[in-house]
Amino acid sequence: MAIRQVAVDGPIVRLQAEMITESAPCPSCHTQSTKIHDRYVRRPADLPWRGHPVRLVVTVRRFRCVNSACDRATFAENCGPDLPRYARRTADAQVYLFQLACTSGGEVGARLAAGAGLPVSPDTLLRLLREAALPTNPTPHVLGVDDLALRRRQVYATIFVDLETGRVVDLVEGREAEMLAKWLTAHPGVEIMTRDRAEAYAEGARTGAPQAVQVADRFHLLQNASAALDGMLRGRRLSIEEQERSEPVAEVLDPLGTSDRGAPPTSTRPPSPTKRYQIERRAARVARWEHVKELAAAGAGFRQIAREVGISRKTVHRLLAAPEPPRNRVVNRRPGGLKSPTLQPYVSYLQDRWQAGCTNVSQLYREIAGQGYPGSRSLLAQAVQTWRGPPLPRAERRKVRRMTRRSSMRWLCLRPPEQLESDEQALLKQLLSQDGELAMGYELLQGFRRVIAKRDTAALEEWMITARASDLPTFVSLANGIEADRMAVNAALTLPWSNGPVEGQITRVKLIKRQGYGRAKVDLLRARVLAS
Ligand SMILES: [Zn+2]
Repeated sequence: MAIRQVAVDGPIVRLQAEMITESAPCPSCHTQSTKIHDRYVRRPADLPWRGHPVRLVVTVRRFRCVNSACDRATFAENCGPDLPRYARRTADAQVYLFQLACTSGGEVGARLAAGAGLPVSPDTLLRLLREAALPTNPTPHVLGVDDLALRRRQVYATIFVDLETGRVVDLVEGREAEMLAKWLTAHPGVEIMTRDRAEAYAEGARTGAPQAVQVADRFHLLQNASAALDGMLRGRRLSIEEQERSEPVAEVLDPLGTSDRGAPPTSTRPPSPTKRYQIERRAARVARWEHVKELAAAGAGFRQIAREVGISRKTVHRLLAAPEPPRNRVVNRRPGGLKSPTLQPYVSYLQDRWQAGCTNVSQLYREIAGQGYPGSRSLLAQAVQTWRGPPLPRAERRKVRRMTRRSSMRWLCLRPPEQLESDEQALLKQLLSQDGELAMGYELLQGFRRVIAKRDTAALEEWMITARASDLPTFVSLANGIEADRMAVNAALTLPWSNGPVEGQITRVKLIKRQGYGRAKVDLLRARVLAS
């Protein structure tokens, strides 16, 4: 193809082009022909130039087939790989749009393309993604699988990562055993598979790839152990305030006011505008009542009082009959805050979470919304505000924030001990000395961390015996769970593989998903993840 002329037509750059060959082969019989039947023009879009749309204006010749034995009478010449038959864009422009679709998705991609001078609809970009021939990755020898939520609690997908190359091999909707078994059957050759401790994946792998060694993920194992201790902490009262009673921090450590420290401290905050308005209205009502009483005592008649005060005679009657100033009218409102019927079913859960150290309203909101809470975040925020106690002077606030975090039982117990500061360690020691069961659970968690760190299967055996003997329900059930998944847990201790790279890829997939503006159905998401 040769460019014969370049013309700028307003914002559009037109490239006049034609094929330079004398003859063309018939696509049916491959006989070369030089007999031109007619010509027609194609106007495909090409890569833009400095934001100007570029159009190729290609004159295409139609030849007559000279082979009398051929069924084909005429044929159009082939414009080469740069301009496929019927294409409305050059191959380069198509590749550019496909890359935009991969990296930016439909909406953003379309905006970028329009800005660059190659306008295209979001739907077209998504269609490019869907139609693209995705690279077929070889089945990995070492496979990592994990689930990710496409819509939390509703739609999940399973991600398959080649742990040797760190590349995503596949993304499939669902996280059931059958799905995994089917995938593994269709992709034979997996020798080692790391997974979290979900039973569905274990079962799927047993069915689909019975020869593969399953490896439980060490991070998930540690998570399970932390969850076992966390289970013990849940609902346990913060008893640290005993040691910190003298400090202002105590207010925050006992947000529910459950300890017997006497009356709650009074607020030093100025009244809110609403409160101020109520106070003013009350004062005005009392003043009016007193005025009416005075006039009546001075012997004025109803009519005269009504005129003087500017109220109806009926109201004068009512005020004179009232032994004390009338109250502000009480509007019968639905109870708010914690008493609100909307919030009621979640209060005990919220209290537990609060005690466990979670005072983040957004987090709490997400949690109860997940349980079906139909109300607003602001209703929740207002309700738990009462648990926060009065605001402290600014200087104190920083200190408290540090102290709350530091003194929270979860923080102390679940942090690796080497990350605690010396005063925190002292606090923890004191805490554990007061609670034998908790101390036992704490020691079990640390022991488990050591087992994982040292990759010691013999030590795991000992740990299991201790955990079962402890009679702590959460740890007994952890030990039972490990026993049921013993081969995979042992593999986690003896093999170097872990699901770490999978977690990294999940973060990437989630980012891509969010860029999809809700258009990320699994097929599109899969295309974007695999193509990039
Ligand atoms: Zn032919």
